[in-house]
Formats: sequence, C-alpha cells, structure tokens
Amino acid sequence: MSCDFLGLAQPGVQKLSPYVPGKPVDELARELDLDPASIVKLASNENPLGPSPKVLEAISAELAELTRYPDGNGFALKRQLAAHCGVALNQVTLGNGSNDILELVARAYLAPGLNAVFSEHAFAVYPIATQAVGAQGRAVPAKDYGHDLDGMLAAIDENTRVIFVANPNNPTGTWFGPQALSDFLARVPERVLVVLDEAYIEYAEGDELPDGLEYLSRYPNLLVSRTFSKAYGLAALRVGYGISSAPVADVLNRVRQPFNVNSLALAAACAALSDSEYLADSRRVNDAGMAQLQDGLRAMDLSWIPSRGNFIAVDLGRESMPLYQALLREGVIVRPVANYGMPHHLRVSIGLPEENARFLEALAKVLDA
Ligand SMILES: *Cc1c(COP(=O)(O)O)cnc(C)c1O
Repeated sequence: MSCDFLGLAQPGVQKLSPYVPGKPVDELARELDLDPASIVKLASNENPLGPSPKVLEAISAELAELTRYPDGNGFALKRQLAAHCGVALNQVTLGNGSNDILELVARAYLAPGLNAVFSEHAFAVYPIATQAVGAQGRAVPAKDYGHDLDGMLAAIDENTRVIFVANPNNPTGTWFGPQALSDFLARVPERVLVVLDEAYIEYAEGDELPDGLEYLSRYPNLLVSRTFSKAYGLAALRVGYGISSAPVADVLNRVRQPFNVNSLALAAACAALSDSEYLADSRRVNDAGMAQLQDGLRAMDLSWIPSRGNFIAVDLGRESMPLYQALLREGVIVRPVANYGMPHHLRVSIGLPEENARFLEALAKVLDA
C-alpha cells in the first residue's frame, strides 16, 4: 500500500485548492482546433499593448549574460524604484511578481496559531499564501462587493499578524478613497502588518484612490505591494516589489530566495519604469476600453461592478459558467469567478478596441442563444 501523501501534508495545505489561472490561448486552440490567432483572451488582466520596444531592447542587451546569476540584490532596479517611490533603498523588496511579496510576508509573519484577515471576494493568493504556512485565513464578508474595512478591523484579534487589503481589488474592481485608508490605518494595531496591494494603482487617476506610499512614514507596519505585470506589461517576466519600513524589508529579505528575480526581468523592469510613454498608452487604452465595454454592456441591459482596474466584473443575472463555456466556443476567453463566491459574474479584462468588440459581439450571441 502506498503512503497517503496528501494526508502527510501539513493540514493547511491539505485544505488548499490550487490557484486557477486564466485559460491559455494555446490550450483552447488545441481543445477546439482553432487558430490561436483567432482567439481573444481577456482573462488575466494582461496588458493588451504587447511589450514596449524599450523593454525588448533591454532584454536583448542582457542575453549575453545568461550564464551568470542575476544580481541577487537587484541593485539597479532597487535604486530606480527608491527614487521613483521617494523612499530609501533599504525599504524596497523585490519579488518574483508581487505574488512573491505576498508569500514572503506570509512566510515571515504567519504560522500555525496565527491568522491573516482579508475580504470576501478578494484576490485568491491571500488565502493560499496564508494556509500554505499553516495559518488561519479570516475572510470578512464584503460590502457591495468591496472591502468592509470596519468589519475587517473588527476581525483582528491577538493572533492576527497580517491584514491583506487590495485597492482596487481583483476580481471585483472595487476601491476606497484616501479618507477611508487613513481612518483604517489609524485603527490597525501596530503589531499587525497591513499589506496594501496596489497591483492596479497605475491606472488610477487624480486622487480618487490613495497613494499608499504617502502613509509609509507614519505607519511602520504598512507594506505597499506593486507589480510590473499589469500597467507596465511584463506579466511573463514575473517582477513586483514591496515598499515598507526598513525593518520589515529586512525581515522579508531573510526569507527571500537568493535570486528571486531573474536578470531579464530586472533589466526589463528598469526599462519599463522609465518608459512613461508606454504607461500613458496603457492608461489611454484602458480608459477607452472601459468606456467601450460599459457602453456595450449598457446596450445589452447588463450591469457590472464599477471598477478602477483594467478589468470589469459583469453581472449576468444567472449562472455564468455555461456562458463562459459558450464564449470559449466563440473563441473568447474571459474569467469565471464562481470560485470567488461570484457565480453570476464573469470578469473581463480590458483589451484593444477590436478585442473588446469581439467580446461584446460574442456575449450578445451567447446570451441570445
Ligand atoms: C495581478 C495581481 C497581483 C500580482 O500579480 P504578479 O504578476 O504576481 O505581480 C497581485 N495582486 C492583485 C490584486 C492582482 O490582481
């Protein structure tokens, strides 16, 4: 008889469900015998612009060094980020995607007997990172799909070490303003680390969303995590960062893999950070696409959750899984979010104008069928 290897895993891991990513284009092409070029993927909040030429150039220049380990301290990128964020070098932590930052926090600060607080309908990595280290995840019921910050504060107890807050949140797109954040931070006990996940902050305009970095000097228990995967268009390379007080960064650095960000990602991120033209294009395409999708949904009498990200959660008023499947048969990949407790919604990433149009057309067709 063979061992029960699931039973041998630590209890938190036994209860985990793996993260479900958006369906890859090639997979759908194989399954339905479609031309990959005919498929539209609006499922993973990826940047529809394709990579910036400056990024491609930076990567090419780095290729000759592939036999070398990357700079384990990521000095050049950290220096650029420190200047960009107005912080000291020792406040920056680099991650293999910002996902890595979330996991470093869990590994450093959570353990069996301790807990992390997050919201219902929040990013799936929070419960995964928490349970993976044997800690308890406390999902606080959402309010109108958004974070109930008062409810989250009330869920904190003496064993809470981390509170994950996404602004805006994925997959709902919901957000809160500067006043809500400052009221919230003032009430979180100092020994609880606030992870403010700003994966989509570059899409925000004006002061509708707070800039988490502005609160760092007042709150040594605040960590702001950001990513190059979305507005900067580097999802494949896996690079993100955390900005925190120096003591927290020091702790994260102790549990980090020695070479967690590879040299192509480091070079690409440096180039992306100074490519303000690409970022401006990302915003412009996103704003136009958001308006296009909303006009199309309104014309179909559908509602959606207002979003400040590069995606929108559409309420189909019925089980969305069959419609997701039907959209796949039309060559359009979006994201079902039943596993986020939202069985009537589909999350649609904002694409190029023609991609958005393909989605709207396909949706009208499958709703009519
Ligand atoms: C996409 C996303 C991330 C991180 O993605 P990485 O590619 O790992 O940087 C983090 N948080 C939220 C809420 C996201 O949507």
